[in-house]
Amino acid sequence: MIRTCVGCRQRVDKTTLVRVVAGRDEAGWTAEPDPDGTRPGRGAHLHPAERCLRLALDRRAFARALRLEGPIGTDALAAWVRSEADE
Ligand SMILES: [Zn+2]
Repeated sequence: MIRTCVGCRQRVDKTTLVRVVAGRDEAGWTAEPDPDGTRPGRGAHLHPAERCLRLALDRRAFARALRLEGPIGTDALAAWVRSEADE
């Protein structure tokens, strides 16, 4: 299946992307990685790369793709992307 990376906007096979879903913490909405693709609800797809994460954040792509309003915490997602990039 072909999906668009919300960072670089490339259309690629979704197996090369990580699914991102909305979560909540005490501060509000969060964007969280869903590497197994099993969590319910709306998802966005992103290359597990810092460059694409930055592009997605610059254009507020997660808010749009996940239909969220207000600030979105991305610390958990950023940490996950960094750990993937190190491998
Ligand atoms: Zn990308």
